Amino acid sequence: MNQELISEGKCVFCEELLEKSKINTHLKKHLKDFLKQEPLGTSFLLQIFTYPNYKKSPYFIYLLVDGEAKMKDIDGFLKDIWLDCCGHMSEFEGRIAKSRKLVDILEKGMDVGYEYDFGSTTYLQIKVVEEFSYKSPQKIYLLSRNEPLKLMCHTCKEQPASVMCSVEQWEDQEHMFCDECATKHEEVCEDFADYAALPIVNSPRMGECGYEGGYIDKERDGIFVM
Ligand SMILES: [Zn+2]
Ligand SMILES: [Zn+2]
Ligand SMILES: [Zn+2]
Ligand SMILES: [Zn+2]
Repeated sequence: MNQELISEGKCVFCEELLEKSKINTHLKKHLKDFLKQEPLGTSFLLQIFTYPNYKKSPYFIYLLVDGEAKMKDIDGFLKDIWLDCCGHMSEFEGRIAKSRKLVDILEKGMDVGYEYDFGSTTYLQIKVVEEFSYKSPQKIYLLSRNEPLKLMCHTCKEQPASVMCSVEQWEDQEHMFCDECATKHEEVCEDFADYAALPIVNSPRMGECGYEGGYIDKERDGIFVM
């Protein structure tokens, strides 16, 4: 059932589709020129992924954030794009207050852990990969995120999965289905029709606590298109 997941993301500046391992360097090159047109200030390039490391995480987000933004802006953005199912609590590692400005907290090379929902927790890592002495044009500027992962139906293995069953997921059984195979699963799994069917979305929160997808950047939050 372990599928080899290729994770790629588009660069916001040139629209090139890049392998996960190449994006960091690629974005830094653009930013060097791009930021020279902005007023002096402070901004940070953030790499966000699931715990424990970037290499193992098929999910990623790159953000350019302005130093005058607050930790709560990052918190809100992560909830909007990846996390919010029903308004759970969240926390930055070291209990960094969300009212603090980024410029007073972040520095290049720093790693900040982040938790959403203290029950069925989603653990993220935020890495400060670069610091710039220019302002960001937006408080939070989305530079890249992983494109929808090539998750295939566990039953027919031919169509993209569009829905999952959280019951089988718990037991690590076949749990991702295409529309057609989902209809068949419904006949053998009562819970599926009742409550256990959850959409395939582009987020590490997928399959948790009824999560049905983000509020922003929706076109890249769907299932992958063959
Ligand atoms: Zn580019
Ligand atoms: Zn929830
Ligand atoms: Zn199928
Ligand atoms: Zn089921």
